[in-house]
Amino acid sequence: MTDGPSYGFDTLQIHAGARPDPATGARQVPIYQSTAYVFRDADHAAALFNLQEVGYIYSRLTNPTVAALQERVATLEGGVGAVCCSSGHAAQIMALFPLMSPGLNIVASSRLYGGTITQFSQTIKRFGWSATFVDMDDPKAVAAAIDENTRAVFCEAIANPGGHITDLRKIADVADEAGIPLIVDNTSATPYLCRPIEHGATLVVHSTTKYLTGNGTVTGGCVVDSGKFDWAANDKFPSLSQPEPAYHGLKFAETFGPLAFTFHGIAIGLRDLGMTMNPQAAHYTLMGIETLSLRMDRHVANAEKIANWLEGDDRVDYVTYAGLKSSPYNKLVTKICPRGAGALFTVAVKGGYDACIKLVDSLEIFSHVANLGDTRSLIIHSASTTHRQLTQEQQVAAGAGPNIVRISIGIEDADDLIADLDQALSKATA
Ligand SMILES: *Cc1c(COP(=O)(O)O)cnc(C)c1O
Repeated sequence: MTDGPSYGFDTLQIHAGARPDPATGARQVPIYQSTAYVFRDADHAAALFNLQEVGYIYSRLTNPTVAALQERVATLEGGVGAVCCSSGHAAQIMALFPLMSPGLNIVASSRLYGGTITQFSQTIKRFGWSATFVDMDDPKAVAAAIDENTRAVFCEAIANPGGHITDLRKIADVADEAGIPLIVDNTSATPYLCRPIEHGATLVVHSTTKYLTGNGTVTGGCVVDSGKFDWAANDKFPSLSQPEPAYHGLKFAETFGPLAFTFHGIAIGLRDLGMTMNPQAAHYTLMGIETLSLRMDRHVANAEKIANWLEGDDRVDYVTYAGLKSSPYNKLVTKICPRGAGALFTVAVKGGYDACIKLVDSLEIFSHVANLGDTRSLIIHSASTTHRQLTQEQQVAAGAGPNIVRISIGIEDADDLIADLDQALSKATA
């Protein structure tokens, strides 16, 4: 397909990045299960290794199946390029790696996927990086937390687990003012519901494990670059603006312009960190993305119906879904994700810890798993699983108190899901 920005989302989710296979005419993107690629001759090899010509060398860096997925996600997000990697967490490290060095920090939302909180509060310390967590509802607090060593602001569009919505434009303005990029984790929203680059984000990261693949088969991640950030505007980003010794002093920002971040991600990030997506995973994710808009519409319709039903039920204390009229984030839905507030929210169940345990054990359609964004409806009781190492105080602060379950609404028949919740709530609160 020739790339036309005039194509609609439904067309692009099927065609972007894909063209009939030049060797065979295969209509579907083949799984290029090959580690290496034959050079035309020694000059070709040298040009590839010097980054003077774009092509395939070795699948740790580039692979045609993965490249098709990269182009598709970049197109759907409205970015200039993307780098896929082995998981969402890998994508987060890949996004930060070109920006950071020991002693530098990021300012991150206090409402993030639990695994990201752990990665940012513990693991990145081993690299000499640190994170300050701030409430993204308060742009002034974000601005106040930024210091001369801050190299990025990081938040989620629709925050996991509570489904809170971030006013991305306000946070992007704060990051702009400080001369640093805003990185948005768009996993829970997907580019169908929210396009962070249109709200000022520099980079978008994804766990493609979730809605983009959509069927709970493979883990993967992606970093999309807007191409809009001038990495050489100040001296904060030497990896991108200064000569790179491993490529004969090449300067990524100067040589690749808007594609600097993407080229750095492949030529340095994947080359040296090796968090590569494999072509099988890219294939499953390409399959999934073809139906993204259809699935998201159903996810949202089901979530709205079920959240409303739960909110009206006596056995429930409250529901955090931003799509509910009662949610303080409801007004932001129209601005940030006009096609709906996603399908992820938490429910406070009367009867606390014991009722939640009985609820997850009594459900028949819902699966009790540590995943989200599947066609199947999923539930997890965070306090007894993902958040069990935390104190009760920390659990409550994370929106994962003992009385809370997180629900990821699937695309099954909404009435069946309601009936399942109804019978399980009866057992849980009997
Ligand atoms: C799952 C998830 C991640 C981590 O992705 P993995 O593919 O599991 O590594 C990051 N952010 C959000 C919002 C997620 O839901």
